Amino acid sequence: MTVRNLFLLPGDGIGPEAMAEVRKIIAFMNAERGAGFETDEGLVGGSAYDAHGAAISEEDMAKAMKADAVLFGAVGGPKWDDVPYDVRPEAGLLRLRKDLELFANLRPAICYPALASASSLKPELVEGLDILIIRELTGGVYFGEPKTITDLGNGQKRAIDTQVYDTYEIERIASVAFEMARTRNNRVCSMEKRNVMKSGVLWNQVVTATHKDKYSDVKLEHMLADAGGMQLVRAPKQFDVIVTDNLFGDMLSDVAAMLTGSLGMLPSASLGAPDAKTGKRKALYEPVHGSAPDIAGQGIANPIAMIASFAMCLRYSFNMVDEADKLEKAIANVLEKGIRTGDIMAEGCTKVGTVEMGDAILAKFRALLG
Ligand code: NAD
Repeated sequence: MTVRNLFLLPGDGIGPEAMAEVRKIIAFMNAERGAGFETDEGLVGGSAYDAHGAAISEEDMAKAMKADAVLFGAVGGPKWDDVPYDVRPEAGLLRLRKDLELFANLRPAICYPALASASSLKPELVEGLDILIIRELTGGVYFGEPKTITDLGNGQKRAIDTQVYDTYEIERIASVAFEMARTRNNRVCSMEKRNVMKSGVLWNQVVTATHKDKYSDVKLEHMLADAGGMQLVRAPKQFDVIVTDNLFGDMLSDVAAMLTGSLGMLPSASLGAPDAKTGKRKALYEPVHGSAPDIAGQGIANPIAMIASFAMCLRYSFNMVDEADKLEKAIANVLEKGIRTGDIMAEGCTKVGTVEMGDAILAKFRALLG
């Protein structure tokens, strides 16, 4: 039987509450579908700091490096606001991204028909929306050197951030985008600012060359990132896969996220390069939301973002496409039935807590698998 190694890092706040609902799904898939998941669990963020004085221990880092996939909850909270900068809760996530070399961040923006009215746009613009934003995660202006603030000595200071991209970084993120597009509607829109930035010129050239070389079956379009932002809120359904750099991706993925309603609904995946021997990519799956200290411990958090992150894990790390489709369909069906956590509650619906939402999704998933 295939063994699938999962390393769970529930983290802080509502992270463990949401992860508990995924654990139930894993247990069901092992017991009734012979899925062969072997899970181990570690500490990250504030909980790791309390136990080890670090945002993630070396032992847990080693386990994350060995796992087929890492499932991550959320980190942070007021309790750790004053801990030293290099061991702050977020440092655990940044270390994971860096050591696993997770250069591709996948953020789907899916608008479930039942939630179309929760969007800030007109329901007809977002109903049935299904786009995937692929953001370059390890390069660009957030990491480029020099990165300084210099005192100019005349009462003025000068701040410098540097936008840097090498060919290989653009090539590999473009390849991920084209490969993902092939599993969807076969269209990629690449966004940069080639009109004012040299890095945009190179980005455009390398994406075009990668397309011509290996992915000419996929439809490629280029858009300036500012125009892309406008199009995202004007007619978001025109897109299938959007690929862009770290800075533009940070903003555009948050814009796209809000088209769909609530933070509690948004999954994400971060992928590394394929292993030379096995062809498997290192991968970390996490909800977009944080640890929500304002509602932690009350049993009212929405577990859908965490469960949908697990669906991405089934799809991208284990090629369990049928199971991923059905888990996503189970989420949509439960929403259609009017079952809601507080953050997505609407008139005439039934309000439930974290555990009831998880149970309802699992029951539907089980029924869909037959
Ligand atoms: P947040 O995402 O934790 O919460 C923002 C708001 O959305 C809150 O009102 C919260 O109750 C609500 N919310 C978020 N997820 C929800 C869910 N699943 N169900 C219902 N409601 C939900 O962001 P924040 O308040 O800015 O940050 C809180 C802490 O989380 C901070 O310490 C921050 O640094 C950390 N954080 C961590 C991550 C991460 O772990 N990846 C991401 C963002 C923020």
